Amino acid sequence: MPTSGNAAWLARSRAAVWHPCTQMKLHETLPLVPVARASGPWLYDFDGRRYLDAVSSWWVNLFGHGHPGINAAIGAQLAELEHVMLAGFTHRPVIELSERLAALAPGRLGHCFYGSDGASAVEIALKMSFHYWRNRDRPAKTGFVSVEHGYHGETLGALAVTDVALFRDVYAPLLRDGIIAPSPDARLAAPGASARDHALGAAAALETLFAECHTSVAALIVEPLVQGATGMAMYDPAYLVRVRELCTRYDVHLIADEIMTGYGRTGTMFACEQAKIVPDFLCLSKGITGGYLPLSVVLTTDEVYAAFYDDDPARGFLHSHSYTGNALACRAALTVLDLFRDEDVLARNRDRASRLDALAQPLAAHGKVRNFRHLGMIWAFEVASARPDFSRWFFAEALARELLLRPIGNTVYWMPPYVLDDAEMALLAERTLEIVACA
Ligand SMILES: *Cc1c(COP(=O)(O)O)cnc(C)c1O
Repeated sequence: MPTSGNAAWLARSRAAVWHPCTQMKLHETLPLVPVARASGPWLYDFDGRRYLDAVSSWWVNLFGHGHPGINAAIGAQLAELEHVMLAGFTHRPVIELSERLAALAPGRLGHCFYGSDGASAVEIALKMSFHYWRNRDRPAKTGFVSVEHGYHGETLGALAVTDVALFRDVYAPLLRDGIIAPSPDARLAAPGASARDHALGAAAALETLFAECHTSVAALIVEPLVQGATGMAMYDPAYLVRVRELCTRYDVHLIADEIMTGYGRTGTMFACEQAKIVPDFLCLSKGITGGYLPLSVVLTTDEVYAAFYDDDPARGFLHSHSYTGNALACRAALTVLDLFRDEDVLARNRDRASRLDALAQPLAAHGKVRNFRHLGMIWAFEVASARPDFSRWFFAEALARELLLRPIGNTVYWMPPYVLDDAEMALLAERTLEIVACA
């Protein structure tokens, strides 16, 4: 057996590492990619091949790999404090990060509660909402409404509000029943109806649902503007405007899961801004540390915070994770916010996105491409292909062309880090087109 190079590493990985979101037997035929190092948008394997990370390493990497500013900030933090428990203790990075997030978030979401990953942020928001109503003497409000085809993570609480069959069905006996509201996904619009008509129809159905059951509902959880994991389903902001009105009218909390859509992904810092709405809970993770370290946060209002503020410990929010508010992660997150402020990232992304969109036009016009869509720094389309193993086939073809692309079913998407230059964008567009042409 070789002792260096890809082959040695992938054999050892298959033996010892149980990889996520993977049927491990598949790796008998589909090789793993052992990554030796990375720089900017490029990953390099042990055989010296490179891959353009066009999905931002599962949607987390905003400014490329090995970013000098984030590297330096983590190094500086390491010299001062790597971690301290956040119960009874506090530190500068977590305080500064909380202040800056509260200032950036829409409305007045001035209280930050930390977790370590997206699913734990969702669990926190769900538990907090439930506990809020209990503390406010409305103990019947225990239910959650979620949106058809929504994704909120895979721990049991988050999975209970997730509607993606592949992840959910096996575990259904473990999950608490919830209520699923129709999807505003523009692709589901009836012939002749606009995206906006369809979104308003979905909101009207939600109203009927709330009218029937709001007395037992604590919160509605949504992915603002784009339902990511189901296949980049995009919808009209009119849905969110109506949803906000309905939640207010029916005394239901609105949880905005911006774990994927936050941090400029949809063109604004937070997707909620495009509908000019303020949720009761805002969940953030993924891009928060620029893809460096696990961290998540739930921002909420004075109103929610006040419901827990009491002499009775049991009325407090006693939830905790060991690494809550990790100092290195918070320092990386502060540096990410510095980059947004100092480098005019949103404006530069608008420019970058219009160039990539222009390069993507031949792809959008291709006979096998359906529903080509684009919002901010996300592009997606379905490929009309009869291949039964389309996503695996596409993934392998992409790797052979120096691209990391991981379709969801027949949906191909780009979610690149915010650093691609013109040559990299051209390479991405041209090679994706090449693969589509033989699909
Ligand atoms: C990824 C994701 C999550 C879960 O985050 P993890 O860090 O993978 O647990 C939740 N909600 C949305 C919208 C996501 O995209």
